[in-house]
Amino acid sequence: MDNMKPMLQVYKPTSAHWVGDGFPVRNIFSDENLGEAISPFLLLDYAGPAEFPPSNRQRGVGEHPHRGFETVTIVYQGELVHRDSAGNHGTIGPGDVQWMTAASGVVHEEKHEPGFAKRGGMLEMVQLWVNLPKAVKMAPPRYQTLLNEQIPVAYLAQGAGQVRVIAGEFHGLKGPAKTFTPIHVYDLHLTADDHTELSFPTGYNIGLFVRKGSVVVNQSYVVGEVELAFCGAAGERINIQAKEEATLLVLSGEPINEPVVWRGPFVTNTEEELVQAMADYQAGRMGHLD
Ligand code: MN
Repeated sequence: MDNMKPMLQVYKPTSAHWVGDGFPVRNIFSDENLGEAISPFLLLDYAGPAEFPPSNRQRGVGEHPHRGFETVTIVYQGELVHRDSAGNHGTIGPGDVQWMTAASGVVHEEKHEPGFAKRGGMLEMVQLWVNLPKAVKMAPPRYQTLLNEQIPVAYLAQGAGQVRVIAGEFHGLKGPAKTFTPIHVYDLHLTADDHTELSFPTGYNIGLFVRKGSVVVNQSYVVGEVELAFCGAAGERINIQAKEEATLLVLSGEPINEPVVWRGPFVTNTEEELVQAMADYQAGRMGHLD
């Protein structure tokens, strides 16, 4: 057990809420409960799995702003559409990822894809908020659609499972997401009773979100379905054993170590910048949807 990263805590969501009328979410973590311990990540919401009946109404969340960070949406089931005031739009389905850099500010809407709404079906997705360092908080917005077929998959030895590399790298396989600070984001699938070891630099924060099944971390801590384990920055290695077939979202990154001033859709470094963000939004300086 040399140089293992210390397990700090296991969280389970205690409540659920709706985002707009399209996303029944459980909050898995936020800066409010984990703070610097999970930097550069700010929030993880898990939507569904939920069955939507066929409908002519396109559910979702209407026009709203963001500044100072990135929203990353990973779809597991269902289909979503997005459009924003920077002129970007996209449709993402199972396995696809939308990596939106709000930075200086965008206004956007996130909805069920019209055909999916009409057909009805299961929706399951996560939205992850990634903070930006001060130096790029006011950079121009950016938008990346990462389709399932662009996301490389590494196969673990002896059929132990697979790693889908969305951002960062795993055993030399690079994920397609462009990021502003060093981040690794994987979908990890483990076969029942198999185990794997992940390795990250000392100083990186780690969150392990168990989406399906249950695992044992570092041979001691049981982490069940829809629970989050997070590990301290010391050490390099994490051992994950699947008690049953398990699927995890693995988050790892170098902490930003700057003040976080967060209200609603804006994340800045100071109160003055927060007031400025609200004023800029109200004055229309984050743009509008056509
Ligand atoms: Mn949004």
